[in-house]
Amino acid sequence: MVRDTARAFSEKTLFPNAARFEREEKIPREVLAELASLGLMSVNIPAQYEGAEAGAVAYALAMFEIARGCASTAVTMAVTNMVGEVIAKFGTEPQRERYVKGLATGELVAGAFALSEPEAGSDPGSMRTVAERKGDRWVITGAKQWITSADFAGVFVVWARTGGGGTAGISAFLVPAQTPGLIVSKHEDKMGLRASSTCALTFDACEVPEDALLGELNGGFKIAMMALDGGRIGIGAQATGIASAALDEGVAYARDRKQFGKSIGDFQAIQWMIADSRTELDAARLLVLRAASLKQAGALFSREAAMAKVFATEKAGIICDRMLQVHGGYGYTKDYAIERHVRDVRVSRIYEGTSEIQRTVIARNVLR
Ligand SMILES: Cc1cc2nc3c(=O)[nH]c(=O)nc-3n(C[C@H](O)[C@H](O)[C@H](O)COP(=O)(O)OP(=O)(O)OC[C@H]3O[C@@H](n4cnc5c(N)ncnc54)[C@H](O)[C@@H]3O)c2cc1C
Repeated sequence: MVRDTARAFSEKTLFPNAARFEREEKIPREVLAELASLGLMSVNIPAQYEGAEAGAVAYALAMFEIARGCASTAVTMAVTNMVGEVIAKFGTEPQRERYVKGLATGELVAGAFALSEPEAGSDPGSMRTVAERKGDRWVITGAKQWITSADFAGVFVVWARTGGGGTAGISAFLVPAQTPGLIVSKHEDKMGLRASSTCALTFDACEVPEDALLGELNGGFKIAMMALDGGRIGIGAQATGIASAALDEGVAYARDRKQFGKSIGDFQAIQWMIADSRTELDAARLLVLRAASLKQAGALFSREAAMAKVFATEKAGIICDRMLQVHGGYGYTKDYAIERHVRDVRVSRIYEGTSEIQRTVIARNVLR
């Protein structure tokens, strides 16, 4: 039911408008509001906090459908679900009431996940943003980089150093938008996902109350890693959704386009591209769904999520590229959506842990 709801919304609202959202470089607010009202901003959030409580498998299926229609909308949804889940898991009751409910109902529009810094990407343990105690308040100072939805998110999970060096001295804080000292600065001019905003943040002595701490003091790194394990399922699903749209378009084009008096789909070279793509797409989906079902069952899923992410995102990139090849020169123009898919899918091998970091996670886990 969740998949069908997401599919219907995607086909009605996203497919016909994704190119426009990209041109206008924004997702209209009413689209985000509708996502929330359909439960898609809170798929795996308990009903007690207005969530859909449909589980991790439903979340992966919904993400797949939304990404088929618009990859930018999908990443906005992915980060918001991740932020809601992390607060639902580690937050206090008042934090859940305020933020988890606010994200699920759409009142807070979107969530932002502020971990990366200009000098700390794959290695967040080297972050420099600090939070210092001042009476009963915390004062956050530093800079964050690449923060999805930062210019309209209602709440930010912000990681900052509260103890010594390394991963042990990091805590997470909940910072509402418009908090004085939280400054949204540069908007990145990206290759793809151009309807999703990605911004740099400056924390200029940004003060938050004591109860803004999320989870335990100096326990933030573990929270980030747990959130990213789940997030990787979402990005694997996003990539397979984009690749699925690309494959559908390649197949339709291969049927229609004629050269040498035949449909190009009659040539074995094109057929093999389609056959390999269909096979790899199914394998990617199954890996993503396996990781989701382990998460849903409460089992360990970190290795499976990393395997799903690296496989799905790399295969999705290859599938999109092949389908552009099927389109010939027309695929290289904005007349066909395949050009957008090739640009949109590329970042899935970078964010929420690069392919290299996924392989590190997998290898460590296998060798342990
Ligand atoms: C569009 C977009 C949206 C994003 N959204 C968010 C967000 O909402 N919140 C957030 O916190 N972050 C976000 N990110 C940041 C993203 O997670 C980082 O870009 C990513 O973790 C990589 O960090 P980096 O860009 O600093 O690259 P670096 O860490 O500098 O890596 C550069 C290269 O070195 C490789 N490398 C680094 N360390 C190792 C190693 N140990 N072994 C092997 N290879 C290694 C990497 O794999 C990569 O190929 C976003 C990024 C983008 C592009």
